[in-house]
Amino acid sequence: MSTAKKSSILIAVVLCGIALLIPAVKRYRTTQVDTSFQPCLLNLLVINVAKKQWALENKKSTIDVPIWNDLLPYLGSNPSIPKCPNGGTYTIGRIGELPTCSLGHSNINGTLHYIH
Ligand SMILES: [Zn+2]
Repeated sequence: MSTAKKSSILIAVVLCGIALLIPAVKRYRTTQVDTSFQPCLLNLLVINVAKKQWALENKKSTIDVPIWNDLLPYLGSNPSIPKCPNGGTYTIGRIGELPTCSLGHSNINGTLHYIH
């Protein structure tokens, strides 16, 4: 796959992730006051997008578990391992699962739901 094609796919996937984030943020705002979750939730979404892209390009299945080195090429042009702004530790998990933050997130109806 050419680099240009690869990066245009990546951009499309990231835009999809952002589109998915907007309703999640709106839903959160209606129930909570604290907004410190947003960078953490965004990190989890970015990790999830990277997982899906890695799985697609490497023909992985939903039970495969990537490591950070696998995901770094999909974490932007100047990649680094995302860090929870509140000091939590991220667990990448299987492709078929959402990544989690050690400070607590639960998976409700396939969306990331923040419960720091
Ligand atoms: Zn967190």
